[in-house]
Amino acid sequence: MKSPEQYKESLRKMRVNIYKFGELISDVTTHPATRATIEGHAQIFKAAQNPEYQDILTTTSSLSGDRISRYLSLIKNADDMIANSKMKRLMFNLTGTCTGGRCVGWTALNAMWASTYDMDQKLGTDYHERMKNWLAWAQKQDITLAGALTDPKGDRTKPPSKQEDPDMNLRILEGRDDGIIVRGAKVMICGVAAANEIFVLPGMGYEAEDKDYAVSFVIPRDIEGLTIVEARHPSDLREFEESFDIPVKMGGITQAYLLFEDVFVPKERVFMKREHDFSHEAVMNFIMPYRSAIGACVAGQGDVMIGAAVLVAQANGLSEKTFREKLTKMSINNETTFGCGIAAATLGKKHPSGVWLCDPLLANVNKVHVATLPYETKILAQDISGGIGETGCIPSYKDFNDERYGHLIQKYLKACSSAEDRVKAARLVEWLTVGAGIPGCMHGGGSPEGAKLIIRANMEIEDKVKMAKRLAGIEQENKKTGQ
Ligand SMILES: Cc1cc2nc3c(=O)[nH]c(=O)nc-3n(C[C@H](O)[C@H](O)[C@H](O)COP(=O)(O)OP(=O)(O)OC[C@H]3O[C@@H](n4cnc5c(N)ncnc54)[C@H](O)[C@@H]3O)c2cc1C
Repeated sequence: MKSPEQYKESLRKMRVNIYKFGELISDVTTHPATRATIEGHAQIFKAAQNPEYQDILTTTSSLSGDRISRYLSLIKNADDMIANSKMKRLMFNLTGTCTGGRCVGWTALNAMWASTYDMDQKLGTDYHERMKNWLAWAQKQDITLAGALTDPKGDRTKPPSKQEDPDMNLRILEGRDDGIIVRGAKVMICGVAAANEIFVLPGMGYEAEDKDYAVSFVIPRDIEGLTIVEARHPSDLREFEESFDIPVKMGGITQAYLLFEDVFVPKERVFMKREHDFSHEAVMNFIMPYRSAIGACVAGQGDVMIGAAVLVAQANGLSEKTFREKLTKMSINNETTFGCGIAAATLGKKHPSGVWLCDPLLANVNKVHVATLPYETKILAQDISGGIGETGCIPSYKDFNDERYGHLIQKYLKACSSAEDRVKAARLVEWLTVGAGIPGCMHGGGSPEGAKLIIRANMEIEDKVKMAKRLAGIEQENKKTGQ
């Protein structure tokens, strides 16, 4: 397995194809726009070498029997899925934020492991064998794999084939014997600058006329024809900041637009080619584990928020006891999303291909909690920290040390700790609640409204009505209201 330095070296060797603010980034490991996210991802490699974390971050490959990164493993049972949650919580604890250049790709490969198996069984294709070969290679190379599902989509009320511009969803432009040519885009993709490869999944709900959009494959991040543009981000100011103004130097979320201009993907790397009937299943296979484990991400960041808020309180001369009620609520929020994910994992079932699928109802209930509870945790962290944490309302490090007035700023920022420690804790709260550290609680892993649709489909209201009727002693059939 790679060391952090070998990982960074693998990124430096790649073709440069990432832009930001009109500039082509020549070295993603040092450029201010991408450096922090790469440092965050490098911490995965570092932690994997630490005996304390090894069992969480690594596992044995079911393909080769070798020790591999868990982020490239097949999730085969509830224990593997629980380890997924523990690993995400740990990585948020270590970096304060998202290492999204790994988890989407990992979940996508597990989803397609099941879907390629099903396609081969039903259609006689050889997608599963291709996946096996690629995954064995990927594990051996210890690659970092981002995942791309989200299409630009255009008019949300129309399917891909009815869009005014046919490129609004990534599509197969040409199917050839040796592979496919794809055109379109994937947007808001996490951590691609930190990745060696990108796993692409289709959208869902496709009919026969949308078959060109039913496509899944994996590509090197620097493949010819792919241009990547990084999104502008709150962390952009970092280039001008120093010392405690950047509280976390080893982590930070990035998101990018992937622009596919007639990219050729060789056959061995194509895992779905126009099988529209299977696109829904592929996305559902993705959603279940992803929405289960994302509860651990926000819990892991919530842990840091509790710690940071208590640090500011202490620096202000207040004990943790003053805020016990609020801190308890923050803990309840953390454990609710973590625990709901563990429950979804535990109550899952094995797919015939060997991978584990989580319980759909609990996984989607978790997604709805993830889209709400962390915001309350952030509010409480700001509440406890006061104005300097809420908006980071503190002069910059440069002003703090200015020869003319710095001593006055330090004098008035001092409370019960040194002025500098108080500022460091407050900057961390700012970073976690309004700054670069915010993970995508609302739409990351899909919108909560989409999760509610799945919850509604799994509510089994009729069974519950029957239950209530039996207990109430009601025998008569109710008239259907049609509402
Ligand atoms: C931090 C973050 C990280 C992300 N990382 C990744 C990543 O790594 N890879 C990836 O592939 N994607 C990623 N995404 C994208 C994410 O999956 C999408 O944002 C999400 O699926 C929602 O899609 P959208 O943003 O296009 O929202 P929209 O589709 O614009 O939805 C906005 C709202 O409209 C509603 N809506 C949409 N269509 C309809 C309709 N037809 N009828 C009624 N209501 C509708 C939705 O429910 C939602 O409430 C990330 C997003 C975030 C915020």
